Amino acid sequence: MPLKKALKIHINGIVQGVGFRPWVYSLAVKSRLTGWILNSSNGVDIQVSGEKNDMDDFIQTLINHPPPLSQIDSMEFVDIEPFDSDNFKILDSRTLVNAYLPVSPDISTCDDCLREMFNPQDRRYRYPFINCTNCGPRFSIAKDIPYDRHNTTMASFQMCPACQREYNNPLDRRYHAQPTACPDCGPQVQLIIEGKVIADADEAILLSRQLIKEGKILSIKGIGGYHLACDARNSQAVSALRDRKKRSDKPFALMAYDMEAISKYCLITEGAKSLLTSKERPIVLLPVKNLFDLSGDIAPRQNHLGFMLPYSPLHHLLLQPDNDVPQIWVMTSANLSEEPVAYRDEEALERLNHVADAFLIHNREIHIRVDDSVGSVFSNEMQPIRRARGYAPCPIRTSADLPQIFAAGAELKNTFCLTRDHYAFISHHIGDLENLETFIAYREAVEHYQRLFRIQPEVIACDLHPDYLASRFAKQLANEGSLKLVEVQHHHAHLASCLADNQRWKETAIGLIYDGTGLGNDGAIWGGEVLVGNCGKFKRAYHLRYIPLAGGDASIRTPARMALSYLWRYELDWDEALPPVKALCMEDRALLRIQLEKNINTMETSSMGRLFDAVSSLIGIRHRINYEGQAAIELESSIEDSDSGFYPVTLGNGIIDTQPLIEALISDLKRGLSSHQISSRFHQSIAVMSLEICKKIRAEKDINLVALSGGVWQNKFLFSKTYQLLKQDGFDMIIHKNVPANDGGLSLGQAFIAASINE
Ligand code: ZN
Ligand code: ZN
Ligand code: FE
Repeated sequence: MPLKKALKIHINGIVQGVGFRPWVYSLAVKSRLTGWILNSSNGVDIQVSGEKNDMDDFIQTLINHPPPLSQIDSMEFVDIEPFDSDNFKILDSRTLVNAYLPVSPDISTCDDCLREMFNPQDRRYRYPFINCTNCGPRFSIAKDIPYDRHNTTMASFQMCPACQREYNNPLDRRYHAQPTACPDCGPQVQLIIEGKVIADADEAILLSRQLIKEGKILSIKGIGGYHLACDARNSQAVSALRDRKKRSDKPFALMAYDMEAISKYCLITEGAKSLLTSKERPIVLLPVKNLFDLSGDIAPRQNHLGFMLPYSPLHHLLLQPDNDVPQIWVMTSANLSEEPVAYRDEEALERLNHVADAFLIHNREIHIRVDDSVGSVFSNEMQPIRRARGYAPCPIRTSADLPQIFAAGAELKNTFCLTRDHYAFISHHIGDLENLETFIAYREAVEHYQRLFRIQPEVIACDLHPDYLASRFAKQLANEGSLKLVEVQHHHAHLASCLADNQRWKETAIGLIYDGTGLGNDGAIWGGEVLVGNCGKFKRAYHLRYIPLAGGDASIRTPARMALSYLWRYELDWDEALPPVKALCMEDRALLRIQLEKNINTMETSSMGRLFDAVSSLIGIRHRINYEGQAAIELESSIEDSDSGFYPVTLGNGIIDTQPLIEALISDLKRGLSSHQISSRFHQSIAVMSLEICKKIRAEKDINLVALSGGVWQNKFLFSKTYQLLKQDGFDMIIHKNVPANDGGLSLGQAFIAASINE
């Protein structure tokens, strides 16, 4: 008599909307087991019964080779009495009050669907909403959990008999694919020009291609919002797009049909290739080889381009190669300057009326807007710059047991974070909370995540800065609910974010937190900080010597003012031969001098970002900026080949005095050294200085763990130099992997700090 065995299994993680049940169904049938599986609001429940050997095979496969899109966070097995049943069944989903489950992010079109879409014999031939259990929209169309069709924006489309048959058949690859559709029953595209529908379905797509070819600007409804698109080789179209979008200089993202098209222009490493082709399909920053025929207006004075590959069926149809259809399209979020991306039809048609020549829209509603994600690659790993589509709302899983916390995030590149149990649900990129539109989007997203993951915060965390809209919102929430409020110093949050991102949240590290702006405990604007601490507390071990930030924003927007402020603090002449002095008119200089001398509307700052700005202007690269980080980005891009030279700094009393650095740099400038070379030397100086400081701290405190966080680390040259130097010296280095080093990762750190204080 073979041994009988039965198990009750509960699985938690991303196990819904990823073909989990049909996969288990087939496996159970193959393993001759009987029983059932169902989706509940907190995971997947299974009961199986059969012979012990068969059961062992089943469990082995389940543990070692789960379906590709699933992410299993935990599995519980309980032995039960063997039971008799004739078959294995998939039962109806069960909703539990207060239970929750991670929701799958949106997933790019899979190869099977692409094959069908380009097969003239298939019933979904050229259908731009083709999807299956392995691909398609998820988070952007989900209104609630469990992730079932009636809880998505596909609810209003009644499936046709053919789609319904696939949907009901556990052996079909569209079994319970919630957004499944076909040309007979699903959404359709339309092309709209001047408020009138010009074409439908395939004709709309073909005409859209024609318009792009003719140099027109098209607004295209995508997965998480609208894009603005044009031919990337057409300089007129690209600069028209810049004008109409009111966006000067800030780089545009590009979409290419395939890798080959990208490799003509950019260097693609193995790591970059796997990121570009990953199911998440982010925009990847790639070093430029040669611009050839691309418009120079796409990313002015930058040595990187942001490329992505098509990720929705519509993109594949639009960019499908053809002799004269452009191979590379500008694909930038459809918004005006810093407003959030448009995602509702009426809103897009109205707001973008003067920007786009035509609109390619469709009637599948986007429930929540999600921007494209952006990343760069370092030693074959992704370094997130913007975490959104494809990644959110996938939580960061942690071994820490977290209370229910709401962490409000920062002002720029905002994300927020909600925690519960072993999950930190960090939101998709919301944007800069500087205008009402973005703030409304923020509040809506907070509500949506709270509802989706059933989180009622007990603790609220926010930045120390009282004027951030996110901080005000957090305080209001804390007040209304009489909840505990934890105000977190900005750079401490960066450090904690890096620790949490690396599952090292219990440890103490040296944090090299190089950043633009964050309010310090002493009321100054911090940003060039070496902290020693953990998620509970921190000490400021070293910081850049304070420099006056005259007129706040005025100096942030005008690096030339920052350069002169540096000279003023170091009692160096405003020599007419120096580029920043020439860049400002007599009157501006006179006013700045009065402001500095009389200390009018002036704050002290240790910002690393401002040091980069000042140097960028000092060597004549950029005196005024049009987007955040521009001066530093162009400074980095100006490096040609690096020599090993660097400038000295003085370390004493916890202060990094950059006066020797600035003096040596000016003397190089006066000797006629090229800006390429000075820029290289300046970057090396910061790397060498970082090593020196870490060695001092290690000698004193015996700490070998170093965390790199803060927006300045997006500087790839600085990052890799510093990383190499410290690594060579035996430091245990941690860098961001799941959340950005910039303020987009801040909310995760805030949450972890609030959690440990709460212990
Ligand atoms: Zn598919
Ligand atoms: Zn159908
Ligand atoms: Fe920051």
